[in-house]
Amino acid sequence: MDLLQKIYEAGVVGAGGAGFPTHIKLNCQVEYFIINAAECEPLLNTDKYLMATKSEEMIKAIEEVSKHIGAKHLIIAIKKKYNKEIGILKDAIERLNSKVQLFYLDNYYPAGDEQMMVYEVTGRSIPEAGIPLDVGAVVSNVGTLVNIHDAMKDKPVTEKYITVVGEVKNPIMIKVPVGISIKECIEAAGGSTIKDYAIIIGGPMMGTIIDDDESDENYIKKTDGSLIVLPKDHYIVERKRKPLKTIINETRSACIQCRYCTDLCHRYLIGHKLRPHKIMRNIGMSEHDAEIMKEALICCECGICELYSCPMGLSPRLVNTYIKGELRKGGIRPEKGSKDIESREMIEYRKIPTTRLMARLDILKYYDQKLDDVKELLPKKVSIPLSQHIGKPAKAIVSVGDNVAKDQLIGQIERNDMGANIHATIDGKVIEVSDKIVILKEDNGVIS
Ligand code: SF4
Ligand code: SF4
Repeated sequence: MDLLQKIYEAGVVGAGGAGFPTHIKLNCQVEYFIINAAECEPLLNTDKYLMATKSEEMIKAIEEVSKHIGAKHLIIAIKKKYNKEIGILKDAIERLNSKVQLFYLDNYYPAGDEQMMVYEVTGRSIPEAGIPLDVGAVVSNVGTLVNIHDAMKDKPVTEKYITVVGEVKNPIMIKVPVGISIKECIEAAGGSTIKDYAIIIGGPMMGTIIDDDESDENYIKKTDGSLIVLPKDHYIVERKRKPLKTIINETRSACIQCRYCTDLCHRYLIGHKLRPHKIMRNIGMSEHDAEIMKEALICCECGICELYSCPMGLSPRLVNTYIKGELRKGGIRPEKGSKDIESREMIEYRKIPTTRLMARLDILKYYDQKLDDVKELLPKKVSIPLSQHIGKPAKAIVSVGDNVAKDQLIGQIERNDMGANIHATIDGKVIEVSDKIVILKEDNGVIS
């Protein structure tokens, strides 16, 4: 069976972001295969753990994928400060006599942004609204590579490694089935040290926030890698939750047109025509310049302007998200820009050092949290969303009352459709089929 068929059958999607189906992404021929090992959001540790414990699997998967996509350059882009992981990867490369090379990145945010990483490795700027393929590259992250290796052995994606940090009693790395509740993950870390807390699913810059009382109805997906527990009145939580109406009103009266949001925007710095200060001036006017508003379509929502740049506490990111939604409702999509773009000359001097970012975000105190050894959780119930990826939801192929075994296909997508297959992550009985499939474990034939 060919590699893409195995990846399709295993339901592999990008493990570190929006969940682009991997069998579709890798259906290409490119010059560069780049592995995103930057783990650039502060406080995340999952990719570093995978690099330290599954280095050979990663290298074997890179070699296999590279044969398929014809890549000449096989590159792991990793922060130069990850000394331990660099040593382990170098040993694995040597043992396997592999062509894989390491490319060293500075410790800045967003070193792991796909467009920034391609620029760093190849010196090529991806066009506006383009993808790495436009400049001869494809990028996968560490977790995806490990899942590709499993797929090569006919093992579907059913498990995740999750870092649980912040205001928890015992910061920990856990191995969990996809579909476990967030609540159980927090409990595995000894619970929270505070009463009223919020949970960031993902990194502090781009993650989504839920409240403590929502943790029982939110589940780990194929794209998740970390949970950060913070007080509800923490700077990050309050900034991310500011209502759009308040932001727009504040923008009208408080935006001083200092341009910091534009000057520190990495998409602007790689040469894109994205000028958040102009968008912010426009949103405050009664008549909008349509061409300037369209620039919002190429914002990747990295959060630098919102959580780092703006001295007035405004949120160009949120304004851009709002404008994107409105333009899409009107059928307006981003247009691909010219390939002849060049980065702006200040790009090297405007990278945001991660330690300075953490100080601004008020999370330095969680930086050195020592993680307990990996603990494997075996829940009695999992709720597996049919949509954990970009594209169509998978179509359920099981019904309430069916007994299923771990790794069994339970949600399917056609081979050429944008989407990914879904598999049972524990043995048990199906007790719900809706936008998710809920499986309850049976003990000795009795549902527990
Ligand atoms: S950084 Fe803030 S105040 Fe300055 S131009 Fe941008 S939105 Fe306005
Ligand atoms: S969120 Fe802000 S800094 Fe990031 S790409 Fe969008 S405009 Fe630029």
